Amino acid sequence: MNNSSANLCNQPQSTNMLSPEQLKFLERAIELSQQGMDSGNGGPFGCVVVQNGKIVGEGNNRVTSTNDPTAHAEVVAIREACKKLNTFQLNDCDIYTSCEPCPMCLGAIYWARPRSVIYANTREEAAAIEFDDDFIYSEINAAIGDRKIPFHHHPNKKAKAVFEAWHKWSGRKKY
Ligand SMILES: [Zn+2]
Repeated sequence: MNNSSANLCNQPQSTNMLSPEQLKFLERAIELSQQGMDSGNGGPFGCVVVQNGKIVGEGNNRVTSTNDPTAHAEVVAIREACKKLNTFQLNDCDIYTSCEPCPMCLGAIYWARPRSVIYANTREEAAAIEFDDDFIYSEINAAIGDRKIPFHHHPNKKAKAVFEAWHKWSGRKKY
């Protein structure tokens, strides 16, 4: 564990600050993490999306059972909640997850824009059982040329034209 991640451990996150109702939702996410693991769906991660005191989306990790590297608990739960609520934004929702989200899920959460995220295990604890999100976090900060997966930039006028057409289009749906 490096110093910067050690500092992140010190963020306020105590379950003592949760109401009994909030604790119930967090424990449902934990229950899903156990159930997903026991049924061979994937890694030990669970998540619920809550709106107005009700669960509107649930998920557990399904990466290995569905051959989908994006099927993390948070993504599964966000997809279910958005489908149920018929929206691409979860503004008035809270996300309870059994573990601090990985960088992919962090991105998905920011796109979904929930009100808050409550998590139990930390990413350092995930790293200790060989789910090392810190590697991806370090890649985000790395210069493009230093990334472990090479990224090649090839500007293209046709690609740019699509962007310009979108920007000028009065019928575009912003998100
Ligand atoms: Zn994730």
